[in-house]
Amino acid sequence: MKYYRIFKWIIAAGLMTATASADEAKTQNEQLYKGKPIKALLITGGCCHDYKFQSKALTMASEAKAPIQWTVVNKGGRGTHAEIDLYNNPDWAKGYDVVVHNECFAKTKNPDYIKKITDAHKKGVPAVVIHCAMHTYRDAKIDDWRDFLGVTSRHHEHQSSYPVTTVKKDHPIMKGVPADWKTPKDELYVILKTAKNMTPLATASSEKNGKAYPVIWINDFHGARVFGTTFGHTNETFSDPVFLDYVTRGILWSAGKLE
Ligand SMILES: [Zn+2]
Repeated sequence: MKYYRIFKWIIAAGLMTATASADEAKTQNEQLYKGKPIKALLITGGCCHDYKFQSKALTMASEAKAPIQWTVVNKGGRGTHAEIDLYNNPDWAKGYDVVVHNECFAKTKNPDYIKKITDAHKKGVPAVVIHCAMHTYRDAKIDDWRDFLGVTSRHHEHQSSYPVTTVKKDHPIMKGVPADWKTPKDELYVILKTAKNMTPLATASSEKNGKAYPVIWINDFHGARVFGTTFGHTNETFSDPVFLDYVTRGILWSAGKLE
């Protein structure tokens, strides 16, 4: 009930802001979208998180900010291994302006299956990757998924409220993240390696050894825009307007609607 009440408040606050600047937003939106909504596909499911809540929170918060038309696919159960049938269609991403991956299947390692996913993005479909997407296909021998993400991570540190340091202040995704923003209780993912074309936008530091890891970044995957964040474990994070706003900007930026 607690989350629901907080979330209702956020949506109400979001709608109030939206009404206050409705004319401005309308003009901006008309220029950006020319009457065409962004078609976004959210793929979610798997271990360890409340994907029903997270999907509702993200779709509602982003719809309040921009004309996004969502399709949500929540498949694969709640375990750490699954191969969902969606990807068997070689055109699974066709018609979407952006695909959001918020799934958690660490033990799935079939290279043919993983390539069906990354191939679509290799052809240019932009993506947003959230939290456990970074541990998805963790046991795979091939690097295709990790190259697509822009980061390699295999474990995380304890839950805490992590202060976030912006490293690219001028990037449109970061405009709106307060300089003193601390996450709600969340996990810090240890980043072991970053891809050549990955650019960190913000970092957070380990409470154990002070090491800073990218927590918000962009990646160029064969010309497709990818936006990523390792936060997103708890429903508190998915109720935080700062988080929901920067992920929304990440969606718009990936889809080429925010420069
Ligand atoms: Zn988690």
